[in-house]
Amino acid sequence: KNILVAFGTRPEAIKMAPVIQALKDHPNLHPIVCVTAQHREMLDQTLELFEITPDIDLNLMRPNQGLATLSARILENITPVLVEHQPDAVLVQGDTTTTFMTALASFYQQIPIGHIEAGLRTGDLRAPFPEEANRVLTSHLAQWHFAPTENNKAALLAENIPPEQIFITGNTVIDALLWIQARINRGIYSEQTKALLARRQRPFILVTGHRRESFGQGFEEICQAIKLIAASHPELDIVYPVHLNPNVQEPVERILGNLPNIHLIEPLGYEPFAALMGQCLFVLTDSGGVQEEAPSLGKPVLVMRTKTERTEALKAGVRLVGTDSETIVKAAYQLLNDATHFRQMSTAVNPYGDGTAAIQIVSILAKQLLDTQA
Ligand code: UDP
Repeated sequence: KNILVAFGTRPEAIKMAPVIQALKDHPNLHPIVCVTAQHREMLDQTLELFEITPDIDLNLMRPNQGLATLSARILENITPVLVEHQPDAVLVQGDTTTTFMTALASFYQQIPIGHIEAGLRTGDLRAPFPEEANRVLTSHLAQWHFAPTENNKAALLAENIPPEQIFITGNTVIDALLWIQARINRGIYSEQTKALLARRQRPFILVTGHRRESFGQGFEEICQAIKLIAASHPELDIVYPVHLNPNVQEPVERILGNLPNIHLIEPLGYEPFAALMGQCLFVLTDSGGVQEEAPSLGKPVLVMRTKTERTEALKAGVRLVGTDSETIVKAAYQLLNDATHFRQMSTAVNPYGDGTAAIQIVSILAKQLLDTQA
């Protein structure tokens, strides 16, 4: 059976990599990898690390492309791929435009869809942030829902998704993280990672941020908070791999450029980023994936958003702090100055599984496809 695996961004690539490997290892399933390259450079770094060579590369990224144009181009360009390859199933991951548009194209071609990381919800469908809509709409097109947690299953049931189509598997991000950490611990890493780690002689806070919902005022506040934390703690470093989006780069360079203990660096490949995550004091982020990963490494996470679709993480060392600079600074000070609080935040149990999600997903898929045939 041929399984078309489609994705377009860095986080999807990280979370799909273990699934592609499990498909390759399966005796009866065969992956066909199709990338839309909704993001180009950051996707390519990840493909290289996981040694994934796409069978089809639609190369759809264009500067300043609007959501409508991107959506239409994905739909138009992936449809001939489906028609030509006639896969027995399509796998999509997460909540990007690639996820939803691939699901829609597959639905039009009547090819069954498996949705990995299904059932995450903030409960807030407001435009113009497309992720929640992408998640909900993809759920209603998919036939198999691979939910990371019980919570996610409950959200799907509440939307009348039939229980026999929902499978709790954990999140494949843990599979990817455990794989890369094991390599790093065995000393298998690049010169870049080695040099980055060597430069980090002092305790440091790791920062990432890129969400559309924070562009503008939110990002100004986030940067002001980082500046205050750095100025009040000269004994610490702040390391910030800055996302390539100009809406992020402009305020970051303007507010945080040229401060002695703030290190603005290029977005990192997954290996050096995972290595830094393993070494930092804690993480300040608005990223979804990082909220799932850092608790597995015993690192507290302050999430600079007002809502999260990963509510189970809030019991696991993750705290929502919004985008108000005062609240971010207060939460960071508490982690830096209150040892009991820090200990509680760093010893939480990760709710996203034991690193076997991809193998579970592939064996469920095989059973579903091969049983239907019988
Ligand atoms: N990540 C990375 N390099 C970086 C920042 C993040 O490899 O410089 C990884 C991170 O470990 C996580 C994923 O990228 O697995 C998260 O991606 P992102 O924050 O872009 O997206 P989200 O998870 O919010 O959808």
